[in-house]
Formats: sequence, C-alpha cells, structure tokens
Amino acid sequence: MSILKHYKEKLDLLKSTGNFRQFTANQQNDHWITIQNKTMLNLSSNDYLGLASKRHLTEQFLDEKSYYFSSSSSRLLTGNFEEYTLCEKALSDAFLGRSALLFNSGYHMNIGILPALADSQTLILADKLVHASIIDGIRLSQGKYLRYRHNDLEHLSQLIAKYHDSVEIERIIVVTESIFSMDGDEADLTQLVKLKKQFPKVMLYVDEAHAIGVRGHLGLGCAEQYQVISEIDFLVGTFGKAVASVGGYLICEPVIRDYLINTMRPLIFSTALPPINIAWTTFMFEHMQTMQRERHALGEISTYLQSEIIQKGYSSPSTSHLVPIIIGDSLKAVNQAKEMQAHGFYIMPVRPPTVPKNTARLRVSLTASIPKQALEKLVDIL
Ligand SMILES: *Cc1c(COP(=O)(O)O)cnc(C)c1O
Repeated sequence: MSILKHYKEKLDLLKSTGNFRQFTANQQNDHWITIQNKTMLNLSSNDYLGLASKRHLTEQFLDEKSYYFSSSSSRLLTGNFEEYTLCEKALSDAFLGRSALLFNSGYHMNIGILPALADSQTLILADKLVHASIIDGIRLSQGKYLRYRHNDLEHLSQLIAKYHDSVEIERIIVVTESIFSMDGDEADLTQLVKLKKQFPKVMLYVDEAHAIGVRGHLGLGCAEQYQVISEIDFLVGTFGKAVASVGGYLICEPVIRDYLINTMRPLIFSTALPPINIAWTTFMFEHMQTMQRERHALGEISTYLQSEIIQKGYSSPSTSHLVPIIIGDSLKAVNQAKEMQAHGFYIMPVRPPTVPKNTARLRVSLTASIPKQALEKLVDIL
C-alpha cells in the first residue's frame, strides 16, 4: 500500500462515524438555494442582509470605474493601492474617527493579531466558545492563555483578579465574540467594558463577525448598539458575511495599527487583496449602513423564531439571527436536518467536536428577506 494509506484510513473512520465532509455544488438566488435540482429555503447562509444577491449593486459598482484585479504584492511593497486608503478612511469615519486596518480575511486577522501582540508577559483570557481562527491565533502566540466559562463574567473577573498583580504579567487580553456563531447568544459588552475599566492591565478584543451589518443603527455591530465603540481596544470583524465582500478589519488605537504593520506576519507576508475587492468592500460597507429596514426585518423574524422554538419545547440560547435548535444526540440531529431538507428547508446539523458533547443541533441562520410565513411552515413541521 502506498504512503497515502494513513490518510485514507483516517478518512474511512470519518465516513464510518458520519463525520466525513465534502463540498456540495449549489446555485443561489436571493434566499433560495438549489442543490442537485432541489430548491430549498436557504437557512444556512451568512448573507444576513441579503446583500450578496443584489445583482443591481454589482452592475452599478462595475459601471462606475474599472479596477485592478490583482494587487501583485503585500501592502508594504507595492500593493498599497488608493482603494486601501479609501476603505480604511470609510471605516475610520464610521467608527468615530478611530484607526482602521484591513486584512485579507477574518481568519488572517485572528491568526495574526494575537501572535503579533502577545509575548510571554501577556495573558490571554478567552471565552470557551470563541471561533477556531481565534484559537489558532492564540496557539501561534507566545502568550500564556486560559479559557473562561462561556459568557461567565464572574469566572472571568476571578481570573483577572488572580493574575492581574502578578509580576510576570504585564498585559491581559480578554477575547470574546459579540454574537457567538454556534449558540447565537451574546457577550455582555457593557459589563465587559466596566470590568476592563477596573483593571489597568486589561485590554478587550471583540470579534463582531456575526454582528457587523446586523446590529446598531448603522450596522456597525454590537459595539455601536451598546455605545462602546471607543472602549474596545481591538474591535474586529469580517466583510465576508453580512457585508457580502471579503476581508477582515480592525478598529484600534493608531499605535496598535503601526505596531501591527511592523510585526503582523499574515499582513506582511501575504499578497494584499485585489483593489477591486477593496473598492467593493467600501461600496458595500457604505450601502450596508443605510439598511435599517433589513436590520429591522431580520430582528423581527429572529425574535419570532426564537420564541416559537422554545414554545415547541426545544431549548435554544439564541438572542440573535443565528438560531440553533438543540437536539442533543448527533445522529438524531443529522436525521432531523435531512428531514428538514426534504421539506425544503436547507438547514445543516452541527455536531461535536464543533459544539460540546450531547448538544448536537440544527443551526438556523436567518436572512432579512425571508418571509415570516416560510418560518411558520418550518415551525409546524418541527
Ligand atoms: C467567519 C468568522 C471568522 C472568519 O472570517 P473570514 O473573513 O470568513 O475569514 C472569524 N471570526 C468569526 C467569529 C467568524 O464567525
């Protein structure tokens, strides 16, 4: 047998336990998705505002100007096109004049920032449920790190109090998401900011990947909603979800921006995104800020679905447009997802190890344009 046997056996194991993953080809149109000639309501999309399917915006954008399709280098060499400056200015203007820095993706951002900032005198305290990209960033860093129980600020403050006055610790970076991707619940940013203010060594790192576009009057995220934009040291997010583009961003102090430009490896050693992408991000970011109607509609259907699920006797921690229906058993969740798909609802099961043991779930991800009637039908067959 060849040298590849090892990998084949690993894959066979995944297949026999129902955990093998593969790409599925699909076509999408508004909130519909077609897979193998079957059209279903797309309840697994990150296009929360429905921006990605607005074809007239693409046409309007392409009519305005022509752009480079490659930046041909890192921004520190020749890749720093005007589009980058304009995009960061648009971000800075929206985020109360704070500094902004762009990254090639949210993943690049999260695997790059912490390794650049955290040395052996740094303690990272991360929520138990933070995204894989943040975990990878922590692993790549030289910092010490501990996890606190999910959204348990009591536990977090105990940990801070325990390590804050240690001579070995000069900085503590508290890392959380604002809306959590698997539970759809939220961190209490107001309390986190209060806590941080009690401890001079503490800085806050908040990932708004699921909240940008969705929360706040201008869609700037939970930080806008709770009026703490200026209090969060590292306010990060992605343009790949509601903003319907690609790339990550950081809102921070100017000194941090300069420091990262000088030290952050994924920023220094990777070709910058194409200028056309950056211009598209700016275009969509501006447009997104005007979408109060969609944000309102998304909020309405989210509250509706959350309460119906509880009424049906399921548990769901959600307070957002990400609405998990906790099933428990993995196989049950898989079968129930299949049944939902047979009824025309494209819902994916999420199983351990992505989520804790015995909390396999159906993860419903809502888009603003989905009519309430469609969800009523879903609730009926649950
Ligand atoms: C999706 C996601 C990312 C990664 O962003 P990309 O731009 O898709 O690489 C980072 N953090 C969180 C919390 C996410 O959900």
